[in-house]
Amino acid sequence: MNPKELWKATLGEIELQISKPNFITWLKNSELIERNEREGVALVGLPNNFAKEWVRNRYHKLILGSLRNLDNSIRNVDYVVITGAREVPARVAVSKPIAASPLTDEHKLPISELKVDPITNLNPRYTLDTFIVGSSNELAYAATQAVIASVGKKYNPLFLYGGVGLGKTHLLQATGNAIASHAGARNRVFYVSSEKFINDVVWAVRNKRMEDIKKRYRDVDVLIIDDIQFIGGKTTTELEFFYTFNALHEHSKQIIISSDRPPAAIPTLEERLRSRFEGGMIVDIGYPDYEMRLAILRAKTQELGALLDGKILDHIAAKVQKNIRELEGVLNKVLFLSQHRGGSLDIKKIDEVISETTRVSSKNVNASDIVKTVAEFFEVPVSDLTNRCRKQEVVEPRQIAMFLLRDVLKLSYPHIGEKLGKRDHTTAIHAYEKINKALSQNPALNQKIILIKERVYK
Ligand code: ADP
Ligand code: MG
Repeated sequence: MNPKELWKATLGEIELQISKPNFITWLKNSELIERNEREGVALVGLPNNFAKEWVRNRYHKLILGSLRNLDNSIRNVDYVVITGAREVPARVAVSKPIAASPLTDEHKLPISELKVDPITNLNPRYTLDTFIVGSSNELAYAATQAVIASVGKKYNPLFLYGGVGLGKTHLLQATGNAIASHAGARNRVFYVSSEKFINDVVWAVRNKRMEDIKKRYRDVDVLIIDDIQFIGGKTTTELEFFYTFNALHEHSKQIIISSDRPPAAIPTLEERLRSRFEGGMIVDIGYPDYEMRLAILRAKTQELGALLDGKILDHIAAKVQKNIRELEGVLNKVLFLSQHRGGSLDIKKIDEVISETTRVSSKNVNASDIVKTVAEFFEVPVSDLTNRCRKQEVVEPRQIAMFLLRDVLKLSYPHIGEKLGKRDHTTAIHAYEKINKALSQNPALNQKIILIKERVYK
């Protein structure tokens, strides 16, 4: 067999073992570039870096095994990017150079708050036109393009996951807007955050209005749910979501979901729901690389009709790496300053803005926020945590609150003890140590802490 035939046969075998969407996305455009007979290494080419890493991490064993079944002289597989094989229109702007000039007065900074559509619940501010595509999100983008082209048919559900501020909400909403813009489609698309879904279900249960919920959520062609990780574990809501999901899925209605992590990493999610998610297309959005960060800064500057020294943009792009929301925040502040200072911005000032912005989003949290979040998480009254309440169901929440006050805010033990149930400092120390030790042995506890922290910082 020549390499081409060998690869064809190998893919035929692999195709039987992974889901079709995954096969199409990850392996359809792969090639066997060479087979080094002396070293027994097969070199597989993939269209981009992301696919290369993904395939290596997820499918290496499968690929090696399938290749060896056909040719046992192969001992290992290596992966490379085949250049020139781009499927996704790369809109990472090779932007025009930006003149070094301060902002003039007619440039208004605030992007007007556009109104949420009362029918779709989508915000028109989010469009695909303003969504910059780069290596960290090109597959997610491609998947949404496929969904727009064949709603309900191709990738269903589409499950996008990624960290905070990386563009999940933007991409979800822009996809919804694109679909809703087709004639007659507006009242067939519905977007919700999982918080809203939870509230709706809780309200409906209390008021015996479940029929309303069913009508609202099941009578659509496209249901988009943002931040699904919060639904897990709230039994009634999760159950209602499960039925909604099935009702839609059975009728080939499109479901698009986002989460801050893959389904397998949402421990509170019931197995059957998780396996439904895994039956569709799962794609992640990673951290933007430098080129993409710069492209985003340039696009936003242009959108605002502003001008900023290219060196300043370079500097911001180099320093703000893990969160596009922060990247925008820094840019807005810098533009504001440059407008009001007549352009005299030095790198030191920019660094100040950067550290302020990143500090605000990562540290501006106080003890009451933490206690309140813990109480809400466990659905117990705040006062049960702060009073001497001895009910069994507040023991764990209180210990977790104590742990977080120490872990996040570095408060003193006497202060923590006083704040949570007027205990003495030994109780606080004991709680901290107990939780800290249990974390490494108890993944469920670990997840609870992560979820609570995320809510605290939200
Ligand atoms: P997430 O939902 O993942 O927390 P968001 O979608 O809210 O993140 O994105 C945070 C901010 O960054 C938003 O203002 C969004 O418009 C912007 N943003 C994110 N990704 C991109 C992108 N690829 N191109 C342009 N803007 C982006
Ligand atoms: Mg979001």
